[in-house]
Amino acid sequence: PPSPLSSAFAAVLDSVLEHARPEASGAVATYIPELAVQDPEQLGIALASVRGTVHEAGDSAAEFTIQSVSKPFVFALALEQHGLAEVMRHVGLEPSGEPFNAISLDEQTGRPLNPMINAGAIVSSSLIRGDSAEEKFQVIGAGLSAFAGRSLDVDEAVFESEVATGDRNRALAYLARSAGTLASTSDVATTAYFRQCAVNVNARDLAIMAATLAGGGVNPVTRERVVREDVARWTTAVMTSCGMYDASGEWLVRVGLPAKSGVGGGIAALQPEQFGIGTFSPRLDARGNSVRGISMLESLSERHGLHMLEHR
Ligand code: GLU
Repeated sequence: PPSPLSSAFAAVLDSVLEHARPEASGAVATYIPELAVQDPEQLGIALASVRGTVHEAGDSAAEFTIQSVSKPFVFALALEQHGLAEVMRHVGLEPSGEPFNAISLDEQTGRPLNPMINAGAIVSSSLIRGDSAEEKFQVIGAGLSAFAGRSLDVDEAVFESEVATGDRNRALAYLARSAGTLASTSDVATTAYFRQCAVNVNARDLAIMAATLAGGGVNPVTRERVVREDVARWTTAVMTSCGMYDASGEWLVRVGLPAKSGVGGGIAALQPEQFGIGTFSPRLDARGNSVRGISMLESLSERHGLHMLEHR
């Protein structure tokens, strides 16, 4: 039988989910045509504690593509392979305040401003070992799977759709390449990046992935160490400053949990040493963040005093 604690958690998740359900604003992403076919009504949430218990509500098993929620995890894999100093020669750590797909590189250094915007994420992917996109993606896919604690696959239709429409991302890769900060050819980097964005996850996976960072790099369900503790900390720091696109500052004030959103409708958030949360709802606001995902995380944080700067 479920413990009293776990039924209390289930009630909390149900309550924030039902609170968010009527919210009908926002729209499903259409700039990647294959994302437009999602059912906009889907709504799910999961919470994984660093001790490995998982609580879920709504469509927490419904799959969607990870999109930009992959960025911190691939950044972590790049840090694990190369260390902070080497990664920082290629990508900065400063919030850009600009949209996710901004044509932006630091003028002095040629680096994308941070690894949470597309330019910086493509550079992270280029840093992953392997000569071809296939070799890089093998590492990336295995790494994302280790964070999630199960073998994740790729939505080939979304991948093809990104390849077909990804010229802006190619432009970002060429720009970084010309500035000397891309660690592979543009084609290898963007192909690996497009595949990484098209990896299928559900809200439960995102909760466990986030809980792996919260637990200092150890997956709380499989007990596998996925990345070093310092890597988990650096990654969480970048999520704190840059994870919610150009809404990161307001997010930090209102919700106060390191998080990363993606245009597939997912958000991964965490409280270091405590838990990870995954949310899924496909309708996005103007900045590309899931409207009901934000709503659920806002009410969870408010009602239960989860803000990282809460006076305890
Ligand atoms: N694959 C998407 C792109 O590169 C990801 C964007 C996002 O989730 O922010 O445009």
